[in-house]
Amino acid sequence: MLEEHDEIGRPFQCAGLVTPAAMDRVSLESTILSSVHGARIHSPGGICVKVGTSDRIRTHIVCRKMFDEGVVRQALDVGASLWLGSKPESAEVYESGVRLIVSRRGTPTEVTCKLLCGADGAHSWVRRHFRMGRPKEMMIGFQAEVVGYRGEEGFLDMYTGDLVAPGLFAWAIPSGRSWRIGVWARPSDLKGRSCEHLYDALMSHPTWADRFRDCKEVGRYCGPLPCGLVSKPSKERVTLFGDAAGLCKPTTGGGIGPGFEQVDLVLEKLLQAVERDRLSAAQLKRVFKPLMAMKKEQERARILRDLFLTDCDDVSLERTFTTFAKPEVVEIINQFGEIEKPVPLGIRMLKDVPEFRPMAAKATWALLKG
Ligand SMILES: Cc1cc2nc3c(=O)[nH]c(=O)nc-3n(C[C@H](O)[C@H](O)[C@H](O)COP(=O)(O)OP(=O)(O)OC[C@H]3O[C@@H](n4cnc5c(N)ncnc54)[C@H](O)[C@@H]3O)c2cc1C
Repeated sequence: MLEEHDEIGRPFQCAGLVTPAAMDRVSLESTILSSVHGARIHSPGGICVKVGTSDRIRTHIVCRKMFDEGVVRQALDVGASLWLGSKPESAEVYESGVRLIVSRRGTPTEVTCKLLCGADGAHSWVRRHFRMGRPKEMMIGFQAEVVGYRGEEGFLDMYTGDLVAPGLFAWAIPSGRSWRIGVWARPSDLKGRSCEHLYDALMSHPTWADRFRDCKEVGRYCGPLPCGLVSKPSKERVTLFGDAAGLCKPTTGGGIGPGFEQVDLVLEKLLQAVERDRLSAAQLKRVFKPLMAMKKEQERARILRDLFLTDCDDVSLERTFTTFAKPEVVEIINQFGEIEKPVPLGIRMLKDVPEFRPMAAKATWALLKG
């Protein structure tokens, strides 16, 4: 494993949401700072819809640095080796492998391998070097760690509306003794504003300013969120994983769970392919075929997100929230809502909630089939 920084897990660019299902895959419970049972979702005009039930943890919030260190430790324990302060300067595929020149703490070092796995994040060098396509959407995320936010323990807050989060949402997430306040947006929706502007607008919003009155910032970060599988996640002797492949959820920006899911989907066949040295473009395409199901699910989630949120102005959002607030709709959300799997809930809403039927007419066949 090559890591360009001198330590694992820095810089930190994450709200730290890890669902129980993703946590089960790595058993790093010691990195949990808090757990949430639900969310308070706010319309632009101030309608608050509270979802979630106290008997079920919807997501954990982790210390991302400790979480990343724990995952890397697991790899080292089973035989991987790690070079810190190291990054590739060149790479070429030849008949029996990939030859790289790696800058190892500034010293050019030749490395060869059978297969190059680019798990090198949203701006992946591997993806760009081998021209493997671009993520469909590249959102911008901004977040501050604060103390003094007036939230409700066990609940995260989500805020909507053109003023604070055009097309998507802003959040306040309890992370132990502090809170993570953030916002994400598509660049095209920002219309000259920056995510910091939106963050300031949230803090001073007439409806919610009181919650932020005593906030003191302890850090701020920003980073990209690549949402939409790239056109070529594999090529001869080269593969992409996680953000490099564009796997973040278009509905939440979460990328940890999808990255783990990708590994689960391809691992067995990929190991066989490496052992047998069957790593041509066609052979790896077959190994990566299960990713097409993830791509389809990403596409369906995006269509639903656009219908319910991204393509809506504040007036239609207000109408949607009026419906969300009905007890029978909250009941549906509590029953079918899953952070990692939003599509079943969206479909259920379109089918079962009379107010949303006109929207169903706008939904494409791609969404409703299956
Ligand atoms: C503001 C914000 C909030 C987020 N919140 C959440 C959340 O709550 N939950 C969630 O699931 N996801 C969240 N995400 C997304 C999440 O952070 C990513 O999806 C996740 O980190 C992807 O993991 P990865 O291993 O693919 O890439 P990364 O975590 O980016 O890891 C890539 C690694 O490769 C290294 N690297 C990069 N280029 C090179 C190179 N050329 N040579 C050597 N090393 C290199 C980097 O230093 C890094 O260590 C958030 C993102 C942002 C921006």
